[in-house]
Amino acid sequence: MATKAQAREPQRRPFRKKDSYRARARAKVYLKDPLALSRRGSFPVGEAIVGGDTSIEPGPTSSRFLVVDYDASADRVYAPTHPSKTVEHWSQGKGEHLYEFSAATGTRQEAQINAWATAVDTLDLFQDGAVFGREIPWAFEGNWLRILPQGMYEANAFYSRQTRALHFGYFSDSAGDPIKTSLSHDIVAHETAHAILDGLRPFYLESVDPDAVAFHEYVGDVAAMLSLFRQKDFLRQLVMLDFGRRSFFDLVTELAPQVGFGVYGRAERAALRSARNDLTYRQVANESDPHVRSQVLTGLAFDLLEGIVRKRLGSGMGREKGAGRQALFGTLMTAARHAMRMLLRPIDFLPPGSITFPEYASILLRVDVRSTPADRLGYRDVLERSMRKRGLHPAQWDYRFEIESDPPDDRSLRERDIGMIRSSRVGAYRFLDANRKAFDIPKNRDFRVIGIGTNRRDLDYGKRATPETIIQYIWEERVDLPRDARSTALDHVVLRAGGTVAVDEFANLVHWSPQHPTTATRDAAREQAVRLVRDRGIDLEPVRGLASSRPFVGQRDGGGTRLLVNTARMHHAVKAR
Ligand SMILES: [Zn+2]
Repeated sequence: MATKAQAREPQRRPFRKKDSYRARARAKVYLKDPLALSRRGSFPVGEAIVGGDTSIEPGPTSSRFLVVDYDASADRVYAPTHPSKTVEHWSQGKGEHLYEFSAATGTRQEAQINAWATAVDTLDLFQDGAVFGREIPWAFEGNWLRILPQGMYEANAFYSRQTRALHFGYFSDSAGDPIKTSLSHDIVAHETAHAILDGLRPFYLESVDPDAVAFHEYVGDVAAMLSLFRQKDFLRQLVMLDFGRRSFFDLVTELAPQVGFGVYGRAERAALRSARNDLTYRQVANESDPHVRSQVLTGLAFDLLEGIVRKRLGSGMGREKGAGRQALFGTLMTAARHAMRMLLRPIDFLPPGSITFPEYASILLRVDVRSTPADRLGYRDVLERSMRKRGLHPAQWDYRFEIESDPPDDRSLRERDIGMIRSSRVGAYRFLDANRKAFDIPKNRDFRVIGIGTNRRDLDYGKRATPETIIQYIWEERVDLPRDARSTALDHVVLRAGGTVAVDEFANLVHWSPQHPTTATRDAAREQAVRLVRDRGIDLEPVRGLASSRPFVGQRDGGGTRLLVNTARMHHAVKAR
């Protein structure tokens, strides 16, 4: 009988390497933008290989992005780009399709290709094994983020969750020359990073804390800065060009030179923003412009990157393979990878509801201590010095939050079944529900799991790290506005309480970033909301939508109004003045 049953069992074919299919694209892209090219002479417009994707189609379209060349100002849709050639090749049993996209300078297709390839590469930066090591979802239903490369005649570019799109504007500089924001590497990478962070932490765009929206700006700028290092061929040529290390860093830290020049038209401010600054957190305490505020963190990120490069060059670590510029090339690649890991990976452990700079700094340090306890290379030392300089070192702060990374021996967690936890949001909920006390979740609250993911990260030397499962959970706390700031349309704001829990494959707790509602956090949210109401910072007319010029828009949601950062207007620095 047993043999008969076995014979009836369907054939199960094991996964073979051959089953893995990847589509890549070779595309013409700008490393920086057309102005950075012309200013530095014969600087190449290079070809980048992007993807490692499951599908690539005309548009270009791939598994996560769709280019729609619709121009709202002209109310017209333009033709998509078709790949000029497709090459199929197999190596070591792995199939790969290489699609080639190319277009002449100044054409619509050039912008379509540049925006798409840069966006694909930016998502790859975050999904890299050194950072998240997994697919990152968008904040909206669906898997295609639309790209409108020449979307409106306006010096503006933005990500919108409502339209599920990245909108890139075009305009003319004072000499009448056309400038397309979609040809700027930094702007495309920055906008894509907004969409990525929104997918990872959707409530950051619904928080009234000025640090939360500034954090979005920081992640955009740091992604623009670090993604420059992803194209080896570019970097190799760049290092070989005739300018020293100093101007190489200028290229890295000057964000969006062409658009900056088009907007400001002044030599002394020939870039939109610079990461080279000495701003401290205290100095921006009352700053409401998220871009200015964000420069404290972007500056910290650049200090770290430069510090790591210095350390490697100083200790001779970058010099083993060849001398001079070739050595600098290797050093820069490695340093950027370390910076990526140290700065971006901790985003996985941030709390779900909102974020402040000191919280981020504190988690940054904690994650680094956990992953490299010995600090043999001295990078943590660089990190801590940069934090002190900015006034963001945990030792300089009196915290109103806590981070738990210690082994959970004394927590005696229940329902530690990793299969159940990973199975679904409800499976993860059951684990948290069984441990409400350990995670400080009130008994009388219907909380929900808003995100669950398991990373597959790489360590150095091709080793895989122990996978961690990261769960975000929240519940909502109503914060009433004082009588004189209340209106029928807005009488309270919502504070998202909860936390982020990371467990290993045996459901041991590896990290916990709780966000408890306290009197202090409630008061801060109330104060910030009152300030927004007084400054007329919230648009409560839902019909105005993308046309609103205020920093927040309100959306009717059940019994109340839900506040959302007005991303269509958050880049007022890009907007022509
Ligand atoms: Zn931005």
